[in-house]
Amino acid sequence: MKIHVVPCLKDNYAYVVVCEKTGKSAIVDASEATPVIAAARALDVAPRDIWCTHHHIDHVGGNEEVVAALGITDVVGHVSDKGRIPGQTKFQDTGDTLALGDLKIRMIHIPGHTLGAIAYVVTDGAETAVFTGDTMFAAGCGRLFEGTPAQMHASLSALAAVGLRALVYCGHEYTESNLRFAAHVEPKNAAVLAAQKRAAALRAEGRPTVPTRIEDELATNPFLRTRSAELRATLGIPADADDATALGAVRKAKDTF
Ligand code: FE
Ligand code: ZN
Repeated sequence: MKIHVVPCLKDNYAYVVVCEKTGKSAIVDASEATPVIAAARALDVAPRDIWCTHHHIDHVGGNEEVVAALGITDVVGHVSDKGRIPGQTKFQDTGDTLALGDLKIRMIHIPGHTLGAIAYVVTDGAETAVFTGDTMFAAGCGRLFEGTPAQMHASLSALAAVGLRALVYCGHEYTESNLRFAAHVEPKNAAVLAAQKRAAALRAEGRPTVPTRIEDELATNPFLRTRSAELRATLGIPADADDATALGAVRKAKDTF
């Protein structure tokens, strides 16, 4: 499996996923038509699918133009996003699967940022990648525009359960600012400091900070670290508050950080 990062708009990422054995390919989030079409042509691939992580315009705004330019046949999204994703032809939910050549894809419904957010877990048998959209970012999570803290907590937990070594490909390059917040809530977390150094070095070279791995997120991402005593002390979250309540408090603090 080969995954190509396609920077779009100001800080969005679209992706081209390629099954190297068969040459079959798919687009994840046609955020913006021009760079996505250019990437497919430069790679000399003929994707037939667009996999949409959620209905926001900065993730689906290129759908119609990309469908027309590349001859896309399937625009995939969550069943509840029907009517909200331009050109949607496939309506999926947790447990549904797709194939792309030798690659196997399963979907997980991950409400929180939006109610119809869906993740694509792709595996070639050796490596697993998960496309998380705006639900799990490197060292962060999306704002709760439509869902509740409890939904976001359940969704992040479902993503974490994909596997420690799974590669996380998210929807935006927000990593450095997310890590600044992570360092604020857990100043003694050495993994956050190491992630900040890694991200700064990559960004200095103009390279994306994606992918990270689930194990990195468990070590650095405040929204997966709602049990951290240091995080709770910084934000004044009671030790006996449940994870969803704590996540809500972390989200509120990040919204105004
Ligand atoms: Fe979004
Ligand atoms: Zn977005």
